[in-house]
Amino acid sequence: MILGDFIPNQQTNYLENKANEILLDNFIEHPYEIDLETIIDINYKNIKVFYSNQDSKVIIKRNMAVIIVNDRLEYRKQREELAEEFCHFLLHCGNQINYKYDIVLDKQEQQAKRMSAYLLCPLYMLKTITIPMDTYCTIHELADIFNVTYEFMKYRLSLIWGQDLNLITVHNGEFYGNISIE
Ligand SMILES: [Zn+2]
Repeated sequence: MILGDFIPNQQTNYLENKANEILLDNFIEHPYEIDLETIIDINYKNIKVFYSNQDSKVIIKRNMAVIIVNDRLEYRKQREELAEEFCHFLLHCGNQINYKYDIVLDKQEQQAKRMSAYLLCPLYMLKTITIPMDTYCTIHELADIFNVTYEFMKYRLSLIWGQDLNLITVHNGEFYGNISIE
């Protein structure tokens, strides 16, 4: 069984297409290949990434950017924050006039978070993941495969099923979440 058996067909959206484009342009097929630092290094000469003892942020000047990642965080969280700041750059670079980071619009936050989830856990990979016949920790297992936190994977899956699933179990080939999948 693969996870794709349980994922309803859906249209991709703008943010997802944009994320997929970046991954496919870099010939990325497997979760362990999603190394945003390398992708940025190769494709975005105008972005510098630093790790530092402060909150993660992106500082944009014209078309140049410095991404600072909070190095106090655990590794997976650092990956997630790098992805989110990178997405802020991609999505919100054009309208940086009078932009103040501390008054970032909620919408921009949501967009960046959403796109970062598409980037770190793309659907075309999720679909191919093999699911054991019996498991009670699908979310944890997926989080390990994609090297993201449990919370982040939970969020990623909520984008697929439209609501938070606190527990996904597979039993005798049937898929169970908070909502049933036909
Ligand atoms: Zn943000």
